[in-house]
Amino acid sequence: MTKWVYFFGAGKAEGDGTWRDLLGGKGAGLAEMTRIGLPVPGGCTISTEACDYYYKNGKKFPPELKKQVAENVAKLEKVTKKKLGDPKNPLLVSVRSGSARSMPGMMETILNLGLNDKSVQGLAASTKNERFAYDAYRRFVQMYSTVVMGLSKEDLEHRLRAMRDRLKVKEDTSVPASGWKELVAEYKQYFKEKSGKDFPDDPMEQLWGAIGAVFGSWMAEKAVTYRRVEKITGLLGTAVNVVQMVFGNTGDNSGTGVCFTRDPSSGEKIFYGDYLTNAQGEDVVAGIRTPVHLTELSKIMPKAYAQLEKVRAKLEKHYKDMQDMEFTIEEGTLYMLQTRTGKRTPAAAFKIAMDMANEKLITKEEAVMRIKPEDIERLFYPVIDSKVDKKSLSSKILTHGIDAVPGAAVGKVCFSAHEAEELAAKGEKVILVRRETSPEDVGGMAVAQGILTATGGKTSHAAVVARGWGKCCIVGAESLDIDYKGKSMKDGKSGRVVKEGEWLTLDGGEGVVYADKLPLVTPEFPKAYQTIMNWADETRRLGVRTNADTPQDARKAIEFGAEGIGLCRTEHMFFTDFEHPEKSHDRQLAIQEMILANEKEARVKALDKLLPFQRRDFIGIFKAMDGFPVTIRLIDPPLHEFVPHEPGKQAELAKELGIPVETVARRVEQLHEANPMLGHRGCRLSITYPEILEMQVRAIIEAAIECSKNKVKVLPEIMIPLTLDKKEMSILADATRRVADELIQKAGVKLPYLVGTMIELPRAALLANEIAEVAEFFSFGTNDLTQTTMGLSRDDAGRFLPDYVDEKKAGVFAGDPFQTLDTKGVGMLMKWGIEKGRETRPKLKVGICGEHGGDADSVKFCHQIGMDYVSASPFRVPISRLAAAQAVIEEKAAKKK
Ligand code: PEP
Ligand code: MG
Repeated sequence: MTKWVYFFGAGKAEGDGTWRDLLGGKGAGLAEMTRIGLPVPGGCTISTEACDYYYKNGKKFPPELKKQVAENVAKLEKVTKKKLGDPKNPLLVSVRSGSARSMPGMMETILNLGLNDKSVQGLAASTKNERFAYDAYRRFVQMYSTVVMGLSKEDLEHRLRAMRDRLKVKEDTSVPASGWKELVAEYKQYFKEKSGKDFPDDPMEQLWGAIGAVFGSWMAEKAVTYRRVEKITGLLGTAVNVVQMVFGNTGDNSGTGVCFTRDPSSGEKIFYGDYLTNAQGEDVVAGIRTPVHLTELSKIMPKAYAQLEKVRAKLEKHYKDMQDMEFTIEEGTLYMLQTRTGKRTPAAAFKIAMDMANEKLITKEEAVMRIKPEDIERLFYPVIDSKVDKKSLSSKILTHGIDAVPGAAVGKVCFSAHEAEELAAKGEKVILVRRETSPEDVGGMAVAQGILTATGGKTSHAAVVARGWGKCCIVGAESLDIDYKGKSMKDGKSGRVVKEGEWLTLDGGEGVVYADKLPLVTPEFPKAYQTIMNWADETRRLGVRTNADTPQDARKAIEFGAEGIGLCRTEHMFFTDFEHPEKSHDRQLAIQEMILANEKEARVKALDKLLPFQRRDFIGIFKAMDGFPVTIRLIDPPLHEFVPHEPGKQAELAKELGIPVETVARRVEQLHEANPMLGHRGCRLSITYPEILEMQVRAIIEAAIECSKNKVKVLPEIMIPLTLDKKEMSILADATRRVADELIQKAGVKLPYLVGTMIELPRAALLANEIAEVAEFFSFGTNDLTQTTMGLSRDDAGRFLPDYVDEKKAGVFAGDPFQTLDTKGVGMLMKWGIEKGRETRPKLKVGICGEHGGDADSVKFCHQIGMDYVSASPFRVPISRLAAAQAVIEEKAAKKK
């Protein structure tokens, strides 16, 4: 018989922290905490497999589930010495969701389950607190009505407000027991009106309703959206945790909180969190009341705080990672309700990993493994440019809030997630402003540059979600009065009003909101980043180069740790003079003149004009790369890309060159190809026009000679693109060497250089052994190799590829093959190409220069198949360095197994 339900309580658990897939993160955490002797209320977890069964069987529970739930409830009753529905001392439970991956606030929870008109009296008697008991009851009826039955939250809230008005009280905490009693009756009446049924009194019936609602919430739109945004796939579903209720809202000697074992924003080793006196957990997460800092708890309840400190130390030592914990204090007694690996900002990820390695809690290798590629991408949060005058800055302050996630963001104000999504789709930058966010808002939060809320603390929904994304967020800006209908907000202190569509700048590091569009800059690398990246560099075997076409990019890449250039696309130099952009036109004219020339002599004349431009650019790049190898690719794109297609522009060009406009139009027409990507491009151009190759090789070698004369070490690697055959490669390699050797000889210098090729066509990969007879190195151009292997146009496939990736549509690929290598197909050709190439030339140097060189998973594959280096765009160089190190560590771990 399949086991669907797993028990924990009284120091024992039928599972542990490693059972996340089966019990969900929350269930596994509760089991583990129970095992290690922490104060955890008892309960049981219905497995994610049961949820999977539910959806695969037309939303039916597994047949054995009823019995197993009943048995576990009986066990819980025994452990707690209380009974569900008992009119004297009732057991109450919470029913909570929890999947293997944390999805904060996306799924449902029901608290205080087990209350009915009789058991509420028992609760009142046993706690000697009638007011509390009826408050708990109305909360339950409210939650059950909305979550299980889907009734209107607003309608119920309206009744609550009306009752408060009737009794002339402002705060919920001042409502007397009689008020709650009245409200429960009203809610039940409403329930009956809307559903045609009485509110269920039987606790087991209540429990089954709640279990179904939690399973149902797995496929709710907000949860599905969250999984899509977070790229969470392959999970079975949610588990359901049925846990004995403990109460943080019995009075001032009780409360509830969320805490982190280290600061999730900075990574500092300080105990960090929020606490709310006399409240239930939902109050903290929902951000409805603004909590106090955890240090206050040490003053309010020193004993419970000391105990919590001990739990903090124990859990961190146990899990060897920063934990995010939920706790409740009931009448001075501490209960742990949840622990999970805490979400953190990228800067904190680096700091925590470094500190934990230095504290010997984890190894340096584990520290390197803790960093996610996205952490690097998100590390360099923009900040407000310090050049902005301080005085004018303070005059622009709209309000202050709590600094939930650092970094700065600029955008136009939107007051609803929907509007944020619409505006962002038009390419606008937006700031989402809400009183508080709820899971329904995730779509708008995802597209926003930054998020601002008027209520909530650092662990409110807005803060938790934004932190996970590394997105600037300010919460608890309480002086803001937000008018959703009027689409504006007013700062209560200054009276300043900001309307929808106006600019706002958030400084998430300081918690300051500015009513203006301020300039942002990207900051320096933090210290922990340097340390961890050094550890990664000590570990990796793969070299990491960069794709750079200009001296500026080359310098940037060196800062990011590049060890050479893996691809310099020379044709970009034909369009733009990167050092003197205003002079770009001279180059464009020269290349156009070359293309429009009728015969070789005229072409050579035009190419001679280009030569000094290219030479100067190469000198700049060689200098920037001082001693690192530089791979320079000869011209690649089809020539039609360089000439104007509009009649007006053609006329201008004809005039400048002093030739008839018809000649320009005719030549452009001649260059037209039905399928240019498979046409006259790459090395095929140099087969037809060897003079282009000659000019480019001359520029490269003359630049190298000049640099070496000036004591700049140069290692040029001349690369032939789109090769498909050994003979083709020999013609071009011979031509290259002829020009180069003659120049080197004439100059009387020693200048080593290599001639190699890109592998971008399946035929080249298949015949790699032949091509390697001529080529001294290979560089896999996986953009084209993916295109030509899969028969997918790299320029057009974006229109339908999403269908191929979408699990709900076709789900053919796990991801876009132009972003992450298709290791199965394209990868097979790469493996073959390397093996065959090295059969001929054992020391053949092999790299990759397609976009995949900056994608972590693809880099790991490149390591596995024995490449020498990867090459990535400058900003992705650190990602490649990290991934290359992780590949070594993963390989070691796999060997150990
Ligand atoms: C490639 O095809 O992978 C490559 C690097 O060349 P390009 O992107 O310039 O075609
Ligand atoms: Mg290419």
